[in-house]
Amino acid sequence: MQKTYLFTPGPTPVPPEVLAAMAEPMVHHRGSDFREVYERCLVRLQEVYRTQSQVLLFAASGTGAMESAVANLCEPGQRVAVVTAGAFGARWASICEQYDLEVERIAYEWGETPVPEEVAAAARERGAEIVFCTQSETSTGVVIDVQAMKAAVGDAVLVVDAVSSLGAVPLETDAWGVDVVVSGSQKALMCPPGLAMTSVAEPLWERLPKARSFYFDWRRARKAQEVFDAAFTPAVSLIRGLDVALGLLLEEGLDAAFEKHVRLGRATRAGIKAMGLELFSPDDDSSAVVTAVRAPEGIDATALLRHLRDEQGVTLAPGQGDLKGKVFRIGHIGWFDVFDIAAALAAVELALTELGADIERGVAVTRAFEAFEPRVAA
Ligand code: PMP
Repeated sequence: MQKTYLFTPGPTPVPPEVLAAMAEPMVHHRGSDFREVYERCLVRLQEVYRTQSQVLLFAASGTGAMESAVANLCEPGQRVAVVTAGAFGARWASICEQYDLEVERIAYEWGETPVPEEVAAAARERGAEIVFCTQSETSTGVVIDVQAMKAAVGDAVLVVDAVSSLGAVPLETDAWGVDVVVSGSQKALMCPPGLAMTSVAEPLWERLPKARSFYFDWRRARKAQEVFDAAFTPAVSLIRGLDVALGLLLEEGLDAAFEKHVRLGRATRAGIKAMGLELFSPDDDSSAVVTAVRAPEGIDATALLRHLRDEQGVTLAPGQGDLKGKVFRIGHIGWFDVFDIAAALAAVELALTELGADIERGVAVTRAFEAFEPRVAA
């Protein structure tokens, strides 16, 4: 009978309207009833991406869309630049290596924020005409300035992993001239895992080499989607869910969603600091997706997470890579509100107390609510 709470940066909680849409009886994917949903969903995706280009949709997790970018953009032996500052930048590098590219890592420490001018200069110096980066590095809580990144790299093709940021923080695909943006369904888009998507800027189409993947061939996907068909059997139920979820997001308004995420980040950081804990992620409004926190002295973050899950039914995310056991992460993307933050903070406070940590009690939730208040311009 234990109630459970999911406060991870993906998968994230799914609204009941979305779950209900996914439970509807199956239809055939070539019929007019599905086509209507598919068309609406694809148009809504363009609105969320803020692009006029088609957004290609695949049945895959976010990594599938990342792989599709490498398989469609790059030829064997090609030199590419990959910005690494955490687990997901490292994933770009691994995929590129798997595809036999010559990978120039522009490496930052985990937790550092990549600097667009440095990245652009390094990419130029090393002769890379494609730059892979991560808008929201979910492993650290760092969100980069994609607009500045594109401005800095200029004519180089900029490929952005927006898996944990699309719908949570601003991303103006067309206005900023971002060439490729990949994302996934299970984060700010408020759906279960299983759908991956990518935008491809119009001028790129003429320059694409032969795709090195059959399933993820962008040309094949685009040709089918142009007539609101799918190249292969689409994930019918997930697409129904995504259609409803995108409708909810657009009804709220993207700008309202971005503001909400900033305020949820503020609330989380204020509560964490009020307890006397140290942030790993940046202590500013850019960090609106996930808050990474250092476990206090003498507490193993893995034990804390186990305690939270087993005793309180609360799931938070662990640190990745070298941060495992050292940090824990509270997600606040998608279908989250300030009461979720309050519950997460209260649970952390209780669990740490039960584990014998020396923390300040009874203040985190109040501080979180104060920090959540909208700020009035001076
Ligand atoms: N990039 C980022 C920034 C992510 O947060 C994730 C998922 N945590 C991925 C890529 C990989 O997505 P998936 O696990 O859906 O393949």
